[in-house]
Amino acid sequence: MIRPPALTDELLTRLRDRVAAQGDATFTTTAVFTGGTLATLPESSPADVRAAYDRAAAVQPEWAATPLHQRLAVFERFHTLLLRERDTVVDLLQAETGKARRDAFEELCEPALVTSYYLRTAPRLLRPRRRAGLLPGLVGATELRQPKGVVGIIAPWNYPWALAIGDLVPALVAGNAVVLKPDSQTSLTPLFGADLLYRAGLPADLLQVVLGDGPTVGGAVVDTCDFIGFTGSTRTGAQIAERAGRRLVGCSLELGGKNPMIVLDDADLDETARTAVRGCFANAGQLCLSLERIYVHDSILDRFVAAFTAEIDRMRLGASYDYGPDMGSLTSARVLKTVSEHVDDARAKGATVLAGGRPRPDLGPYFYEPTLLTDVTPDMVCHAEETFGPVVSLYPFGSDDEAVALANESSYGLNASVFGRDRARAAAVGARLRVGTVNVNDGFTAAYGSTDAPMGGMGASGLGRRHGAEGLLKYTEAQTVATQRRSVLNPPRWLPYRFYAAVMARSLRVMRMIGLR
Ligand code: NAD
Repeated sequence: MIRPPALTDELLTRLRDRVAAQGDATFTTTAVFTGGTLATLPESSPADVRAAYDRAAAVQPEWAATPLHQRLAVFERFHTLLLRERDTVVDLLQAETGKARRDAFEELCEPALVTSYYLRTAPRLLRPRRRAGLLPGLVGATELRQPKGVVGIIAPWNYPWALAIGDLVPALVAGNAVVLKPDSQTSLTPLFGADLLYRAGLPADLLQVVLGDGPTVGGAVVDTCDFIGFTGSTRTGAQIAERAGRRLVGCSLELGGKNPMIVLDDADLDETARTAVRGCFANAGQLCLSLERIYVHDSILDRFVAAFTAEIDRMRLGASYDYGPDMGSLTSARVLKTVSEHVDDARAKGATVLAGGRPRPDLGPYFYEPTLLTDVTPDMVCHAEETFGPVVSLYPFGSDDEAVALANESSYGLNASVFGRDRARAAAVGARLRVGTVNVNDGFTAAYGSTDAPMGGMGASGLGRRHGAEGLLKYTEAQTVATQRRSVLNPPRWLPYRFYAAVMARSLRVMRMIGLR
């Protein structure tokens, strides 16, 4: 089946109409399960991006001036709508990414959690805050949170719903307008998200969706918008930071990972193996948080291998719009090529394939088996490079210190997991890892799903955080309004400055002594 049940002609026409594009240029997207054509969509030009920005900028001040509780009412309705229309969302996600339905459903949940979180916390996070003024009683200070203006969101293809809609909701909540550029292959799901937001009452023009090639259309977004929220590869992230820097425009960058998992000697091996399957192979490993390196204590290596390979053997692969398969397809021929090359390179250089290791054209054009490698050495590409597919390498270690050192041997620093029955010990090992999120006895969901806590990367994995206070406040400018009752900071005319300076110096000393300043 090329088209999923929910993608009717009527819906496709409605989604096409949401694209900010004036010309006749179009492009096609692929139905991943079959390799056939899924949809033909309008392509935006850089001039369309500028026009979209102008339309969004024109309505943004009124949105920012709308009382927060009225803005939040839109997201309350959006939350209801997205759960009610979940079948359409997961259908579209499956069609354009090829992921298993359970992965699509889990992706659906992220913006629901994020929306709910900011519905609860935005009033507290965005309200004006009184700050201690220069001279208590005479000078007061208030911190305001002003929206940036028009935020550009650039999203990748692997989680096109979560990483587009989940990121633009807080930008809108904070009073901004948004220009969204999803990856071309995965345009339909974010367009449906925009459709739901408008049906929930978002003011016309506040959210613009532009479609097209990354460097051209994405580049125009970076050259136009007032802040950039980018999720994608480290290479593109660095280009965007440089380009935004030229205009002194801020950006947050959520980039790649080569995430380690450590199995300590006291881990519950059956539980660990079962959990590791999701940690390594959710969305066929096309997940920035996916675990691609597993470090296992020498003393339990054989037992872990037996338990983990048994779990991998049990996995059901398939292309269907039901909850049967555990793992779906890779999203494109390009990803399949990279995955095959990484495994073939490792095999040719002496790695042992403990599970998987083959494409599965019998299931669909881009399927690849969940794969476990061992005897991987630094000369193999998959040792340090992100594979971004269902391939994980296994390494032994002898002590906690060695595990930490090996796990930290990466320029990336996104996510890690540590398994052990002694949770305090496992958490202490995790805190020594240079990564933005650590999961004890889980792959990635525990940290990623904890929307009250920040999520993001260190090193080559990015700048800035989503979720938590920072996930909202990054879309704002802090503004301080300081008010003084009357002019107290200038010395009176009759007082020579020399005496004024002496008085001020003494006051500073006294204020320090009594802890006032
Ligand atoms: P990518 O960088 O090629 O593309 C991401 C988005 O940027 C797409 O919309 C693309 O069209 C656009 N783009 C490409 N070049 C651009 C340019 N020069 N200027 C502006 N926009 C441009 O990444 P990808 O291959 O689509 O995504 C996979 C990568 O994303 C992986 O490395 C993965 O680890 C990372 N990722 C990170 C996170 C995270 O939260 N840290 C989440 C998902 C994916």
